[in-house]
Amino acid sequence: MSSYTFFLTGVIISLFVGIIAFKADALTKSGTIAAILVGISVFFFGGLDWFLLLSVFFITSMLLTRIKNARKEEANRNFAKGGVRDFWQVAANGAIAALSAVAFYFYKNELFLYSFIAAVSTMTFDTWATEAGILGKSNPVLVTTGRQVRVGTSGAISVQGTLVGLAGSALIGACAYYFFTLFNSPLQGVSISPSLFLFLAVSLAGGFFGSLADSFLGATVQIMYYCTKCKKETECKTHYCSVKTTQIRGIDWFDNDFVNLLASLFGALVGVGVFALFGQ
Ligand SMILES: [Zn+2]
Repeated sequence: MSSYTFFLTGVIISLFVGIIAFKADALTKSGTIAAILVGISVFFFGGLDWFLLLSVFFITSMLLTRIKNARKEEANRNFAKGGVRDFWQVAANGAIAALSAVAFYFYKNELFLYSFIAAVSTMTFDTWATEAGILGKSNPVLVTTGRQVRVGTSGAISVQGTLVGLAGSALIGACAYYFFTLFNSPLQGVSISPSLFLFLAVSLAGGFFGSLADSFLGATVQIMYYCTKCKKETECKTHYCSVKTTQIRGIDWFDNDFVNLLASLFGALVGVGVFALFGQ
């Protein structure tokens, strides 16, 4: 396949997946554009196997996000996590995965394959854990203090969320092994010998520590507001009751998107670290 045909194939598949997600109310219009850009980059610079792994994250997360209950409605109104995703939410989540594919294409170094797997694993862990935490019966606790907080709160963790997150990361590691073995790649002349142990280790460690970083940043430096009318913490500048909220903690520009970006960067670095330890 010429690189032009290959590029076109990536565009068509990404458009197709993006439009389905938009129709399913998983993404806003701008979020759909961001998802299509991430999809095209991963497909073109990585390859079909890279794209399939990203799709496992995307499709499972979309399905989990569609399971709704009253607690989730409440969490979505107050917090950025879950619900319909916009441009910056998608871009912040997908940037490290897309950049890993680009770096792999230009540097032909297998460590970018592992940073990609770990970045996708971090997104998966985070989304699965958040959804499971929201659907669960008990309240999560803040990772820094252990204080019980409302579901959906940034920086909160729960036992059921963590277990489900680990399951998500295990799925990503196993699928990565399967795809990269099946297509006898990574492509572009870089030869690796896929090892199920290594793929699982990279994925589980990357996903777990990336999400832990997400929780720590969410509980400490991420900006958080308070609605004086509803007496509730929120991530929104204007609350859903249309009252202007006041900042109670965090750094001004340190929003949930930036936290997600740093978390998947950290997850990717942990993944590369695991590869460096056990990979050769
Ligand atoms: Zn309010």
